[in-house]
Amino acid sequence: MTAILIDGKAAAAELRAKVAGEVRRLAAVHGLRLGLAVVLVGDNPASEAYVGSKKKMSAQAGIQSFDHRLPGTAGQVELLALIARLNGDPSIHGILVQLPLPPQIDPYKVIAAVDPTKDVDGFHPVNAGRLALGLPSLVPCTPLGCIMLAKTVHPSLAGLEAVIVGRSNIVGKPLAQLLIGQSATVTVAHSKTRDLPAVCRRADIVVAATGRPGLVRRDWIKPGATVIDVGINRVAGEGGRHRIVGDVAFAEVCEVAGAITPVPGGVGPMTIACLLANTVRAACTSAGLPVPEL
Ligand code: NAP
Repeated sequence: MTAILIDGKAAAAELRAKVAGEVRRLAAVHGLRLGLAVVLVGDNPASEAYVGSKKKMSAQAGIQSFDHRLPGTAGQVELLALIARLNGDPSIHGILVQLPLPPQIDPYKVIAAVDPTKDVDGFHPVNAGRLALGLPSLVPCTPLGCIMLAKTVHPSLAGLEAVIVGRSNIVGKPLAQLLIGQSATVTVAHSKTRDLPAVCRRADIVVAATGRPGLVRRDWIKPGATVIDVGINRVAGEGGRHRIVGDVAFAEVCEVAGAITPVPGGVGPMTIACLLANTVRAACTSAGLPVPEL
């Protein structure tokens, strides 16, 4: 069998169009002009690229983005002072601090300093706790994107067996909470999991979020299962060039899976679209308006 390709680019474009519509409506009906602050410390090229895309997509959706750049030598006190200013600025509805941060800065202190109502990354302990309790919260963008893509194949995830490979705070753990919230039966696997191929073979949905290129192989996948590949890995390609691959051995897994997200063009574009959607949610909550379905 040849897997159906789950088109993350198209799904992301659809979500961004909905966001843009909401942004226009909020401006026209409520006079609300949405603002997103993007904080970048240092000059990591991958972070620069992500920040550039976020800025461009924000502008296209009608969200004003405010760039705050600090040198790689900036201290924690300086960064915390900037976050305090952004927390208190009513024209800013979302604050995003691009990770990773330089080693002299404790990311947990920084994440905890962001006002939870402006935490569009959904990383603040208050939002993580609310998600775990099944309460409304700002939800991390990549796991949110994974759920939306899985639902293009399975409109209901109830009762499905889901295996997530990877237990990070930004992908694996919040995704597990979201899948539990959708009544899936969830296993979170990691580097110490015994017989990982057999664990994955049980799954109706396999999500790979490990940062290990091509880790998930053909014989790990139950025929017809849905495979969501979160990995973004830069590997050496032909002619000294680099290419981006996922955590799934794409060509061989395509032969057995029922549906699969490509890399690039799968989960990646959804992450930014979900960030914009979270900015709309944060702005509506802070203005005391109903949060739209996006
Ligand atoms: P991370 O914090 O490094 O976590 C990786 C997880 O994978 C860990 O839980 C680790 O297990 C597990 N793991 C590593 N090697 C494994 C193996 N051989 N077998 C089983 N489990 C293994 O990574 P992350 O931040 O979650 O990111 C994961 C990948 O997703 C990366 O490629 C990253 O670039 C990508 N990503 C993409 C997006 C997007 O927008 N598409 C967003 C975020 C991340 P232990 O806990 O036991 O060490």
